[in-house]
Amino acid sequence: MYEDLKGKTAVITGGSKGIGHAIAERFGQEGMNVVINYNSDPAGAESAVASVENKGGHAVAVQADISTELGVQSLLDAAVENFGDLDVWINNAGMEIKSPTHELSLDAWNKVTAIDQTGVFLGSRIALAYFKKHGKAGNIINMSSVHERIPWPTFASYAAAKGSVKLFTQTIAMEYAKDNIRVNAIGPGAINTPINAQKFADKAQYDQTVKMVPMDRIGDPEEVAAGAAWLASNESSYVTGITLFIDGGMTLYPAFKDGQG
Ligand code: NAD
Repeated sequence: MYEDLKGKTAVITGGSKGIGHAIAERFGQEGMNVVINYNSDPAGAESAVASVENKGGHAVAVQADISTELGVQSLLDAAVENFGDLDVWINNAGMEIKSPTHELSLDAWNKVTAIDQTGVFLGSRIALAYFKKHGKAGNIINMSSVHERIPWPTFASYAAAKGSVKLFTQTIAMEYAKDNIRVNAIGPGAINTPINAQKFADKAQYDQTVKMVPMDRIGDPEEVAAGAAWLASNESSYVTGITLFIDGGMTLYPAFKDGQG
């Protein structure tokens, strides 16, 4: 628990399920006010609202497509109208499309780019403008991936977007450091969420993924949420521009695990 988070207001994009849902719940436990964005799953968003309220926080669910300017504006408006302020903005929404790159359609490339890359820009821009206008020491967290570092054949649009999130995060962290606005990324490894449900339902694929993790297990969304709470809190007050990998060691070149090479 981080005492300074109590009563602060956060926007979480893509909060109806998976990692976003877990962050909402954790922020509820911290006594925060949370705007839970969803795109197409109102039931999931309502369950996240209930989780936040059960843990002692306050929450509202807001439908918005975060790849649009109107969408992110409606999330900021909801924070101000319902809770009077904005302190933390989490660009969590994301998606991936698998395709050999020589067959990847322009539509598919544009869709992944719009959500995973442009959505992060639009969310960050509106939060930065708000923090600047109100002279606030705001906090932005961008959900990247181990694939900001590890190439991922047949997911080129996703890896390209996450690589972009990394340098975008570092660049705006530097640009707004003097304003005391901190910007960091989180790089999850393999986490048990709906994005992986189909893959992990197949035992062979599940086992293959576990083999890529030195800690020998898939991560839980709550373990990512714990990192988000730390980055949002004053306990990380001198941290900006990093990617906090929460990956059980996946980025440590596990092919060398037993001294090979
Ligand atoms: P998820 O599919 O459970 O959740 C993603 C959320 O984003 C969903 O609620 C979805 O509706 C929302 N979303 C998608 N497009 C949107 C749009 N246009 N507007 C608003 N919301 C939209 O996946 P997750 O695993 O919880 O992923 C959350 C983030 O973590 C993503 O950015 C993902 O790339 C990243 N990540 C996940 C893993 C993992 O193993 N689960 C690993 C690395 C990175």
